[in-house]
Amino acid sequence: MASRPAHDLLQRVFGYDDFRGPQQDIVEHVAAGHDALVLMPTGGGKSLCYQVPALLRDGCGIVISPLIALMQDQVEALRQLGVRAEFLNSTLDAETAARVERELLAGELDMLYVAPERLLTGRFLSLLSRSRIALFAIDEAHCVSQWGHDFRPEYRQLTVLHERWPQIPRIALTATADPPTQREIAERLDLQEARHFVSSFDRPNIRYTVVQKDNARKQLTDFLRGHRGEAGIVYCMSRRKVEETAEFLCGQGFNALPYHAGLPPEVRADNQRRFLREDGIVMCATIAFGMGIDKPDVRFVAHTDLPKSMEGYYQETGRAGRDGEAAEAWLCYGLGDVVLLKQMIEQSEAGEERKQLERGKLDHLLGYCESMQCRRQVLLAGFGETYPQPCGNCDNCLTPPASWDATIPAQKALSCVYRSGQRFGVGHLIDVLRGSENEKVKQQGHDKLSTYAIGRDLDARTWRSVFRQLVAASLLEVDSEGHGGLRLTDASRDVLTGRRQISMRRDPASSTSGRERSAQ
Ligand code: ADP
Ligand code: ZN
Repeated sequence: MASRPAHDLLQRVFGYDDFRGPQQDIVEHVAAGHDALVLMPTGGGKSLCYQVPALLRDGCGIVISPLIALMQDQVEALRQLGVRAEFLNSTLDAETAARVERELLAGELDMLYVAPERLLTGRFLSLLSRSRIALFAIDEAHCVSQWGHDFRPEYRQLTVLHERWPQIPRIALTATADPPTQREIAERLDLQEARHFVSSFDRPNIRYTVVQKDNARKQLTDFLRGHRGEAGIVYCMSRRKVEETAEFLCGQGFNALPYHAGLPPEVRADNQRRFLREDGIVMCATIAFGMGIDKPDVRFVAHTDLPKSMEGYYQETGRAGRDGEAAEAWLCYGLGDVVLLKQMIEQSEAGEERKQLERGKLDHLLGYCESMQCRRQVLLAGFGETYPQPCGNCDNCLTPPASWDATIPAQKALSCVYRSGQRFGVGHLIDVLRGSENEKVKQQGHDKLSTYAIGRDLDARTWRSVFRQLVAASLLEVDSEGHGGLRLTDASRDVLTGRRQISMRRDPASSTSGRERSAQ
C-alpha cells in the first residue's frame, strides 16, 4: 500500500507534518489488515498508530481502554479534529448510550472507545456483529498481565475478538517494556503471530538522579528550587505522606496539590484539572495519579520514597518531558525504604512464587539505586535493551561516584548483627558499633560485646550507608516480624570469613550533613 493516503490523512486530520519513529510502519501494517503488538514508551505517540488506520479503513475503529476517566478527553480531542468519535462506559446515561449504539449500527461512527467490561457484554458483542468494524485497538495491553499492578481480569477475555472476528485487524499497545510482560501479552491476547513493533525505551531528554535520603524534606525543597515555576509530580508512598508533603510544600511557597485515591472524586478531578491547565503546579501524589495523563511539559518527576519496581519507576518518570525538552527524574531513597519494602513483601499474603518475583523486582530496583554505572544503561538493561555508551545525562555520568573498600566495615557490621542476636535494627547496631553509652545499649549488655565501639572510625551517616548497601545487596535481611531487626543471610558468611571483598559506593556528603540525625 502506498503511504500517501496515510500521510495525507495525518496532515489533513491531525495537522502533523510527519509520522514519528515507527508510526508509519505500524499504521500501514494495521491499515493493510494485519495484527500488531506495539511497545512504545509513554509519549511515543501510540494513539496515532490506531487512529490513523481506523480512519483509513472502512467501518468504526473500536478502542478498548481501561481508563474511563480519559475516554471523554480523548473523544473530545478527536471531535475537535472533525472525527466522529464516541465512548461507551458506565458514566453515560441510558439514553446517550442508546444513541451511540444506534450510530454505530448505522455506520455513523469513525471511532468508538469502550471499557472492557462493557465490550464483553452479550449485548455489545451482538451489536458489534451487526456493525462494520475497521479494527480493534487494545490500549494499555499490559492490563492482561497478572503480575503487573494494573491487572484487569476482563482483559483475559479479549481473545473473543480474535475468535469471532478473525479477519479484523487487532493492534495491542502498551508502554510496559520488560520482555516477560511482552511475552505474556502476546500469549494471552493471541498475538504471537502478530508483528511486534518494539521501540527503544530510552528517553534521552530525561536526566536520572538518585540521592541518598538524609534530610528528606530539605533535599526535596532544594531539588524543587531548581524547578521554580515548573510543573512536576512528587510521588509519595502513602496517602498520608501525600497530604503532609503537599501541605509542607505550600508552606514553603510552592503551588502544591495533593492527589490520591482516598480524596473525594470532585477534589481529585479538580486537582487534576488544575495540574493540566495551570502553570507550575507541583502535584504530590500516590501512583494513583498519572496513568494516561497527557501533559507534555511536566518538567520533573520526584520520588520521595522507593517505587515498587523498575517498571513502575520507568512508567512514573516517563511522565516527565513528553514534549522532548529537558526534564528530570529524581529519586531520594534511604535504608528505611529498603527495610519497609522488604517487609511488605515478606508480610504479604501472596504465595511463595509471587513473593520470589517481587523480591527479584525489588533487587533489580535496588541494583539501579546503588549502581555506580550509568543509570540509563542499568535502566534499559532491565528492559532487555543494551545502551552502548554511558549516556552523559545521569548523575553517575555527570559526577562519577567514588567507591571504597568496605570489606572491614562490612565485617564489623555483620559480626555486630550476629553477636547482638540478629534481632536489632540499624539505629541500635550503629550505637553499639560507635560505642554509645545510651540506656538501651547498656540494658542489653551490648557494651560488653566484642563488637562494642569497634566502629568509631566511621560516623553514623557512613554506617547507615554501609548497612543500607548490605541490605540492598542481600548480605543482611530484614526480619519478617516487622520490627526492622536485621539478620545474616547465607551470603553473609563469605564476607565474615574474608572470602569476599566488598566495594561500596561512597555517598556524597550532603549539604545538610552538619548535624547527624539519629538513625531510625
Ligand atoms: P502515548 O499514548 O504513546 O503516550 P500519545 O499518543 O498521547 O502518546 O502522543 C504523545 C504526544 O505526542 C501527543 O501530544 C501527540 O499529539 C504527539 N504526537 C504523536 N505523534 C506525533 C507526530 N507524528 N507528530 C507530532 N506530534 C505527535
Ligand atoms: Zn548515564
